[in-house]
Amino acid sequence: MSAATPPPALDDRCPRCGQPFHCGAQEAHCDCFELKLGEALRQQLAQQYSRCLCIACLRQLQAEQGHAAG
Ligand SMILES: [Zn+2]
Repeated sequence: MSAATPPPALDDRCPRCGQPFHCGAQEAHCDCFELKLGEALRQQLAQQYSRCLCIACLRQLQAEQGHAAG
């Protein structure tokens, strides 16, 4: 029994909802890569938050953006 790849530690905390999560943007892959966030939303998030948001918040924001944009 050897643990080749230990599960990622939840070493980040979402600044929006406060839930612990792990962002893999510094590594090979992050869940947020799957999301097609608009450039406007990206810049808004960058100004509003200095850190990544959890995938749940990103999905929510993406959905809201989609509704708003029609
Ligand atoms: Zn969140």
